[in-house]
Amino acid sequence: REILRLDGICKSYQVGLPTQTDVLHNISFQLDSNDFAALVGPSGSGKSTLLNVMGLLDQPTSGELYLLQQATSTMTERQRTELRGSEIGFVFQFHHLIQAFSALDNVLMPLMLNHGKPTAEDRDYARHLLAQVGLEKLAGRRPNELSGGQQQRVAVARALVTKPALILADEPTGNLDSKSAATVFELFRKIQVEYQCAVLLVTHDERLSSACERTIQLFDGRLQSADEHQAR
Ligand code: ADP
Ligand code: ADP
Repeated sequence: REILRLDGICKSYQVGLPTQTDVLHNISFQLDSNDFAALVGPSGSGKSTLLNVMGLLDQPTSGELYLLQQATSTMTERQRTELRGSEIGFVFQFHHLIQAFSALDNVLMPLMLNHGKPTAEDRDYARHLLAQVGLEKLAGRRPNELSGGQQQRVAVARALVTKPALILADEPTGNLDSKSAATVFELFRKIQVEYQCAVLLVTHDERLSSACERTIQLFDGRLQSADEHQAR
């Protein structure tokens, strides 16, 4: 199933009146529901910019982005926000959990943003997700009462709570020791299989990117490859 398709995506920034910098050049590729892909490239190659475009947080200068086969360029900002809220789960390097909320309430946050007060069913599902990430006993804890790896697992559960078609993760293990990083990485893999969503993660860690089935490689804002390769 096609989840995301980029067709000739370009992004330029105006950095002074006569000058613009072209950050993304004619990027085209597709992500399907069985894709588990790494987005890699040197610092400054355009990974964050591309992630923002794919996450409907930023509009490309030209080209079209299709999410679930719907062209997004002609949508209103409100439609894009709704689509983002229901179909895209984000995980960041710094998890951005709300310190005043329990792990459970953090997981419920996206649902509250989408439709207000969580139902009993929402709570059950959030608990189920916390169990999936191995934190069922810690649902009542605040983020600062959890380790870095546990906090990131809460962030993964939060990204899943809307049952999104696409998970975008920006250096989700960048802030973790290698053992927690491996646990969180395995969690993404499990999630991809179980929930049949497309997962794309930005990583500088070659061990992780080579363990993904696909590598989307950027260099100077150009796509170097978007191939599938055998996981080692
Ligand atoms: P972003 O992708 O969010 O724009 P950068 O790619 O610039 O951020 O880098 C994110 C963080 O990773 C920075 O703190 C940077 O110093 C660090 N970093 C960049 N390149 C590498 C690398 N090859 N190995 C490890 N850390 C890196
Ligand atoms: P990466 O995540 O791979 O480090 P980025 O997408 O952050 O790369 O940045 C790619 C290029 O775009 C960099 O040269 C950066 O300086 C430039 N850039 C990013 N955001 C802006 C902006 N708002 N205005 C101007 N240039 C930007």
